[in-house]
Parts: sequence; C-alpha cells; structure tokens
Amino acid sequence: MSLVLKGGRVVDPASQRDEVADVVIDEGRIAEIGKDLKGDDTLDATGAVVAPGFVDMHTHVREPGREDEETIASASAAAAKGGYTAICTMPNTDPVADSASVVETVWALGREAGLVQVVPAGALSKNLEGLKMADIGEMARSAARVRLFTDDGRGVQDALFARRTMEYLLAFDGIYAEHCEVDALAADGQMHEGELSAKLGLRGIPAEAEELMAARDVALAKLTGCRLHLLHISTAGTVDIVRRAKAEGLRVTAEATPHHFTLTDAALESYDPMAKVNPPLRDDTHREAVIEGLADGTIDAIATDHAPHAQEEKDQELMFCPPGMLGLETALALTVTELVHTGRITLSRAIELLSTTPARLLGLEGQGALEVGGVANLCVFDPAAEWTVDPAAFSSKSRNTPFAGRAVKGKVLHAFFIGRQTVRDGELVIGELV
Ligand SMILES: [Zn+2]
Repeated sequence: MSLVLKGGRVVDPASQRDEVADVVIDEGRIAEIGKDLKGDDTLDATGAVVAPGFVDMHTHVREPGREDEETIASASAAAAKGGYTAICTMPNTDPVADSASVVETVWALGREAGLVQVVPAGALSKNLEGLKMADIGEMARSAARVRLFTDDGRGVQDALFARRTMEYLLAFDGIYAEHCEVDALAADGQMHEGELSAKLGLRGIPAEAEELMAARDVALAKLTGCRLHLLHISTAGTVDIVRRAKAEGLRVTAEATPHHFTLTDAALESYDPMAKVNPPLRDDTHREAVIEGLADGTIDAIATDHAPHAQEEKDQELMFCPPGMLGLETALALTVTELVHTGRITLSRAIELLSTTPARLLGLEGQGALEVGGVANLCVFDPAAEWTVDPAAFSSKSRNTPFAGRAVKGKVLHAFFIGRQTVRDGELVIGELV
C-alpha cells in the first residue's frame, strides 16, 4: 500500500528543496517526490508544509527512576505529536545513564515504544559527580551507539576532568556536551540576576555563570580538538563566544530552547514556579541575542530541554520547586509563532534548526532529510493554524508548562516514523506500515 501526500509545500533544507509537490511513501521509504503522483491512498496536504521529522537534541524522559513524571513511551508520544521522529535522551535519570546497561535499556524501551527514534546520551562522569569518567567507551560501543556525552543538569566544574574527557572522546569522535554553569556563581539562584531579581528579592544567577564555562570549554576544545556542543545557551555573551569559536574554525556547536527565545525573566514577576528553569529566562537583551544567533547561523539547533515534573513538586514556592518545563508539544508552534511569523527567520531555516542540523550533528541516518529512497521520517504541519496551548491535551505525563492558555500558530497535522503513521489530524495513531 503506497500513500501519497498531496499538494503540500515540501521543504527540505538538506536538498534545498522548497516547492509544492506530492510525496509518495511506500514500504517505509520515500518512493517519489514530484508533480501529479499517485498512490493507493491519498492524504491531502494542501496549504501544509511537508518536512523531515524533527530531531530533539535535548529531552528528559525520566525513565528509569521517575516514571510517575514521564516514561520513554509517553515522551515518545509527546514527541511524535510535536512532529519529532527522533529524541536524544539526557542521562540524568535514576540510575544515571553512565553505563552500557542503562543506555541499552533506554534504547530498547525506545524501540519498544516505536513512535520515534530514541537516541540515548551518556553521562560524562560516573553518577554525574564530575569526578570519575563514566563508561564512555562501553556506551559508545553498546547497541545504543552513544555519540553525545553530557552531565546535563549540572556543568563539569573541574577543568582538568573536562580536558581529560575531551581527549578520551576524540578516539571515536564523540561529542562533549556541556550544561554551562559555574556552581560557585549560580549557587541557590532562582532566576536571572538583574534588575528584576533585585526588585523581587530573589537570588540571581548571573549570565557569567554560563559564559565562564562556555569560554573555558571552547578553550579546551581548541586545545584537544574535541567536538563541543553547548546545551541550551541563554546569554548574549555565550552567543558571542560560539560565534567567535566558529569564526576560528573550531568544532563548536550550540542549541537554544523555545522558552529562551520566547520568554524573559518578566515571566517570574508573579513568582510563577512554571517559569523557573535552568538556565533561567534572561532579560530582553539576552533573548534578542539568542534570536540573532539562531538567525545568523551561530546557533545550530532548537532543542526543547523537555523537563517533566510532578505537579506537587512544581506547585511549591519558587525557592523549592525544581527547575524545568515541558517542550516537545509546543516547540514547533513557538518557533513558527515567535521566529517565522515575525520575520526573524525563514520557514526553511526553522526546519534546518529543528531537523536537518540536529540529525547531522547526532549522525542519525534516515533522519533530517527528505530524499527519494530515504527512510520516511517526516511530519506535515500547518504553519498558519491557530490553537491555544492546553496542557490537559498533552501526551506527556506531566503538565508543567508556562505556556498554558497561550495562543500560538503552527500545528502538527501528521507524522510518519519509518513509514508508519504516528500522528493523524493532530491525534496519536499507531498506523500500519505504509
Ligand atoms: Zn541542562
């Protein structure tokens, strides 16, 4: 049974394709792209965009350990609904993904869920303690074939540990990914350090807590030759550090989250625990710099930092609630609403940031491109469709989003993972192989 997606705007930055065309999916692959194509079945895509499935470089799935907040299956469902066909899972689970057995478990549970490709990241250090190296080689050689390593949730504080780990990663071209945060400067901070934190009487996290570590890591990447990826960058200074590193030809990449280009620290004016996140929402100058970085190619990827939390934990005073917010089911809409409809980036650049580049950085075959003969991992979305964010409708097991009730544009209509339809008319389906 072949399926033809009829009359959509096919946008694939990898092949620089941007044209109205039909796409035929057959036996899990893209059989044809062109005009007036036929198939056994037809799905009308008129007015919609047909794009390669999105690839999230930064997802917290909470399994193993906190299955009450999210599981690999529920995160996969949320991802599929958000237009994703691959997610890279962060290792700060319980137990920590610092060994071959844990990353293989995550990878296998992802295959079992079967809605998106689950790509486990491994820890840099044992138990994320920043002291002893995790079983990096074993994780790289495991069935999960880990390529990206990070202690995300905290930064590596010891520069010598960072250097030695980068040297070790060089052997198999692994990516050293940093959550840039100098603990001594960030300690007990609740929000961005600035005028507003002073006014609200909350302890701030200065931009420099991020920038010092970003600068250190770039220096070490230059010293060692290791690939460096900076997670969720949030300050003007960090954007500048990445821009200069790229100009120097270093193998340095960076991601930014939808919340950092959408919101500012003003979201904390009412002490809203949903707006607490790490790194914190910054002021407008920083937000603008992040958008500029996304537009000019300095920042390589939009990553969600999808961080589910139990309601009772999030519903605490700012001081006590854990940082983090959901992202998978709102990322496309926030990108389209905040960046594309405002004219800051093109639709093609948005897809490059959401799919093409993250797929390439993670080395994922069959992801991030629409090519004849290639695996049918794709999504269809309506960039003009308006909707209101309703956490109750999320497939995630958690509800912590600061975007509840927000009117947005850009809605995922359909998604296909290895030729199987996972989302139809915005609803999760487990389709037969096309
Ligand atoms: Zn982080």
